[in-house]
Amino acid sequence: MNRSLWLLTLGLLALVPELAAAQERKPNIVLIVGDDMGYADVGFHGCQDIPTPHLDALARSGVRCTSGYVSGPYCSPTRAGLLTGRYQQRFGHEFNPGAGAEIGMPVKETTLADRLKAAGYATGLVGKWHLGNAAKFQPQQRGFQEFFGFLGGSHSYLPEVKGAGILRGTEPANEKEYLTDALGREAVAFIDKHQKEPFFLYLAFNAVHTPMHATDKYLQRFGKIEDKNRRTYAAMMSAMDDAIGTVIAKLRAAGLEDNTLICFISDNGGPTMMGTTINGSSNAPLRGSKRQTLEGGIRVPFVVSWKGKLPAGKVYEQPVIQLDLHASALAAAGIAVSPEWKLDGVNLLPHLDGKNVQPPHAALYWRFGNMMAIRQGDWKLAQYDNTGRHLYQLAKDIGEKDDLLAQEPEKVKDLEAAWKKWDAELVKPLWGAGGKAE
Ligand code: CA
Repeated sequence: MNRSLWLLTLGLLALVPELAAAQERKPNIVLIVGDDMGYADVGFHGCQDIPTPHLDALARSGVRCTSGYVSGPYCSPTRAGLLTGRYQQRFGHEFNPGAGAEIGMPVKETTLADRLKAAGYATGLVGKWHLGNAAKFQPQQRGFQEFFGFLGGSHSYLPEVKGAGILRGTEPANEKEYLTDALGREAVAFIDKHQKEPFFLYLAFNAVHTPMHATDKYLQRFGKIEDKNRRTYAAMMSAMDDAIGTVIAKLRAAGLEDNTLICFISDNGGPTMMGTTINGSSNAPLRGSKRQTLEGGIRVPFVVSWKGKLPAGKVYEQPVIQLDLHASALAAAGIAVSPEWKLDGVNLLPHLDGKNVQPPHAALYWRFGNMMAIRQGDWKLAQYDNTGRHLYQLAKDIGEKDDLLAQEPEKVKDLEAAWKKWDAELVKPLWGAGGKAE
């Protein structure tokens, strides 16, 4: 063996342990949440007037769940369900905690960040929290080692005057960038800082929740949209899509794309109550709005991508729910689930890669004050206002237009009984719909 070949062989041998370590390294988890997005308003659902190239690319890189749900029809309950992997009504988190109130997600609940941190993950939240403002409820007490964002349910996107609410840890950040850009920047910085260890990044944009703030950079992309509200919404969506693009690009540049589970959901549907869209969103072809158990409130854009493990470009039609992302992240991280955790979500990975052809859930359930819903197979029984129960067959009627309640009394009886059984396991809300302790 000549000297150069010998040196090359030595060099390759030296690399072997590193290669082995890279293969054994636990996957990173990146959980991206949009806020109050319309079901119709992403390219991968056919949106024409707002390009979302980065979200579309993410959807193409993984599995798009067309019956993807959230367990709450508005912000805070969905986030409580996501982070605990449990129906949030099991621990009284049925409604939003009010601004400034000393209430929040009960501290006896364990979060995904708690579990991943215990397994050696670096954990960070970039963005919106909305699970309680008091010190004991803040992200750093709930498993997140790092936090950049805000504690409440909504926030201005514009440069801050003297630390108006964006925090880095517990200190005012005095943020000067457009907030969506800043969240993208901080997410990229978190990945850069932790690229040599497994990390969990919870990237919770407030886009496209009100207030309707956009900068000229994004607004000028949408000169053709005449409706001012829709134009601002499009600009805000485009900013979020760009920010997501920078995050994916960072993962790729760091060589981490194949070893990262990336999930994307909206926390609820677009706020289109009473036929008026508050932020310019559209839930078409779904009916209903944020704050309702109609599909428009609870069925959301839902993508799960893991380039090294899950098929690309797959469409998965069985009902899934954001509670499942918790269990899926634990499975990806190799964390065994204890029955004592009483998770409601299930590991979706074997379902999404086709190994398990059974539906992940026998049924999905909702309760929101006097609203309710249960989805079992293609059937959905729902109460979404004061007009009592309604029965829909979603496979034929995604827009919930054809009430089959009178024609299908046996189906109604079965669904009602199943929902009541679940409902009996829940507790009374810890606070009311007004966000105040009762
Ligand atoms: Ca929301």
